[in-house]
Amino acid sequence: MLQLIANATQKTENPAIVSQGRSYSYQELLDASGQFSSLLLGQDADLQESRVAFMVAPGFDYVRVQWAIWRAGGVAVPLCVTYPLPSLQYVIEDTGAEVVVAGREFAATLSPLAEEKGLRFIILDQTNDGDDAPKQLPEIAPSRRAMILYTSGTTNLPKGVVTTHANLEAQISTLVEAWQWSTSDHTLCILPLHHVHGIVNVVSCALWAGATVEFLPSFSAEAVFGIFQAGKVNVFMAVPTIYFKLIAYWEELPPAEQKQVSDTLAKFRLMVSGSAALPVSVMEKWRKISGHTLLERYGMTEIGMGISNPYKGERRAGYIGQPLPGVKVRLVDDLDNVLEAGQPGEIQVKGPGVFREYWGKPEATREAFTGDGWFHTGDVAVVEQGCYRILGRNSIDIIKSGGYKISALEIEEVLRTHPAIADCGVVGIPNDEWGELVVAALIVNDPALDVSELTAWMREKMPAYKTPRRYKILAELPRNVMGKVTKNDLKKLF
Ligand code: ATP
Ligand code: MG
Repeated sequence: MLQLIANATQKTENPAIVSQGRSYSYQELLDASGQFSSLLLGQDADLQESRVAFMVAPGFDYVRVQWAIWRAGGVAVPLCVTYPLPSLQYVIEDTGAEVVVAGREFAATLSPLAEEKGLRFIILDQTNDGDDAPKQLPEIAPSRRAMILYTSGTTNLPKGVVTTHANLEAQISTLVEAWQWSTSDHTLCILPLHHVHGIVNVVSCALWAGATVEFLPSFSAEAVFGIFQAGKVNVFMAVPTIYFKLIAYWEELPPAEQKQVSDTLAKFRLMVSGSAALPVSVMEKWRKISGHTLLERYGMTEIGMGISNPYKGERRAGYIGQPLPGVKVRLVDDLDNVLEAGQPGEIQVKGPGVFREYWGKPEATREAFTGDGWFHTGDVAVVEQGCYRILGRNSIDIIKSGGYKISALEIEEVLRTHPAIADCGVVGIPNDEWGELVVAALIVNDPALDVSELTAWMREKMPAYKTPRRYKILAELPRNVMGKVTKNDLKKLF
């Protein structure tokens, strides 16, 4: 990621970061990250891929520390700022981190852990900005490890995904070009920075391009619209649940304020959704509010972004578009045979952005790739009229019932078109007769919803074998920090 930092030396007058009412220039970021890297290095010339775990709130300090780790030749391990202690411990132990950096507010949480393990522990404060002149950018081979991000843990215990400097640079440069990031951009980051969506797509792309990143440490729809109203933000990226919340908030505003918000949004350059399937209903409502057709894309911790709707050109609701430049994608059957056009199959990916390994899991790494180097995403898709459509995760969204393979996502889309249903999650539960039985959890906006009427309604919309056999009404769906429905939890409720 030295290229990212080198870019900053040539950058514009734009602020690099706006956080808690303060602007920081690219020069400040360079100086402060250089100073902190000197502190990390001490007498060493290179941290030699030592893992440095850091728990810092989104903002200037987060980027300062991350860049410092890269400049010092370390591997950046961002810790989720809302994780409970056992999860923090898991990441620190699993990565074998030797250094732990904590923002002031996290020092009390992390210090006993660091002490117990005998790790070097650094609390961030002004004194870290020693007067050591920032070191020159070192030579770091692109093939060296740069970061370990944990997967969202939607299906299993999170796995540590190791990306090299070259992997990250490929992921970033592809997106900067495909989505036309430039020095005129100003984005608002509301996403956590221990997942690829926030740290790669938003923060690193913006800084690579010489744009400005503004941070909002904790999300509220009111605060987001407040910042939008200031008129600077023109690029916004979020997960579907965030758009869902923004829509709900907007719908409660008085008409005059609604119009103000809509007028502001109409001036944006780009609005993106990803990390989970974007419900067509959310896309359509957002289009009415903002005048924007959300750009939906598909990616993973392991590959960065792989498939995206076009920046220019038609963005089809319910579809994720086409492979990004430089990303090779194929759909295969269970035996890795490439399928004929129009057949649903597993997405496999190859390219310079694809991760190097699961940290400390050589077996899992081996299993994740075919003999000829294609990565098994575990997601199933189909191509229709040249566009990819996600059918879901093979392990959990593809329900095997009565000899059929049924896409939970497809059923969810249909359920959401019912006027009394606000949201839903479909899963398969074990069943002796059918293998798995399709069941649905519902969030309703009309408590009078009649389940037998819904059953009849669904049978008019889809073949009977796809329609849920049981429904359960919930107050909310179980989700992880990325707003993804954790379907194993959902299954347990049935
Ligand atoms: P874990 O691997 O620990 O179970 P996870 O797969 O949710 O967690 P991430 O790497 O954050 O961890 O998420 C990648 C997954 O998110 C993809 O494999 C895919 O299932 C899903 N995903 C991402 N974008 C989309 C999208 N636009 N539509 C549908 N699913 C998406
Ligand atoms: Mg995954």
